[in-house]
Amino acid sequence: MLPILPPITRFAPSPTGPLHLGHAYSALVAAERAGPDGTFLLRIEDIDQTRARPAWEAQIFDDLHWLGLSWPRPVMRQSDRLAQYRDALDHLWQGGLLYPCTCRRRDIDAALSAPQEGAPMHGPDGVIYPGTCRARAPRSGDMPKDAVLRLDMRAAVARTGPLRFRETGAGPDGQSGEIHLRPEDVIRATGDIILARRGMGTSYHLSVVVDDAAQGVTEVTRGADLFEATQIHVVLQALLGAATPDYLHHRLIRDDQGKRLAKRDDARSLATYRAAGATPQDIRRMVSL
Ligand code: GLU
Ligand code: ZN
Repeated sequence: MLPILPPITRFAPSPTGPLHLGHAYSALVAAERAGPDGTFLLRIEDIDQTRARPAWEAQIFDDLHWLGLSWPRPVMRQSDRLAQYRDALDHLWQGGLLYPCTCRRRDIDAALSAPQEGAPMHGPDGVIYPGTCRARAPRSGDMPKDAVLRLDMRAAVARTGPLRFRETGAGPDGQSGEIHLRPEDVIRATGDIILARRGMGTSYHLSVVVDDAAQGVTEVTRGADLFEATQIHVVLQALLGAATPDYLHHRLIRDDQGKRLAKRDDARSLATYRAAGATPQDIRRMVSL
């Protein structure tokens, strides 16, 4: 029998605004899933340096401590890991799986509104890229610097074959248990997603996969809004030789109108509730924990 490893979970906020009730719920779920024998990690996802602020990061530490959470230090900060992302991109580039994309937003819109294209399909990153640069872009030689790099999803899934992951929570349509990913479904649902953004050298999808692997995360806990992105992450894990963790997608915390809470929703920030005298127990009650 395989030994049962103590779970490693993580909460991975971006320091681009105040934490709200949805974040509190997500962090509490991650800590609870780690349990007394496991490890709950905090990771700061600050690759978007135009929006990340040290003051928001400090507020994240403060709010989470107040909630009663603790984690090993130093915390992993994505802005410190650009070399690791570069290595992962290089590996994919050497494998012929990436191509530079020079499309501007309006080129993509124009290609998608061409009469033969039909209604644009939406994937985890918004409209699905029509593939304009796929055939014409060079894929040999050195990886271009500071370019937008896309993953050729057809080539990627041709290499990985069918994949699967274990869902210990539920996707938006109740998807649960063993989730099978068929290559043709992944291509249709995601298209050639961006793995390196200009001025960033990485992307959410690439960084999250590289870091979950580096930290040995055994169960990724996060909102059900990221369920559709998980197929991308499982493909990347296969291409990069990383293990696929379990995924627990949890319900989203909504406001009284049923609208999903957003970062700019300062009225529901933990700081606002704290200032009004709420206790951590009040917060747990508000998110039905
Ligand atoms: N950093 C992401 C966010 O703020 C979360 C990423 C994840 O949990 O996979 O929504
Ligand atoms: Zn392009």
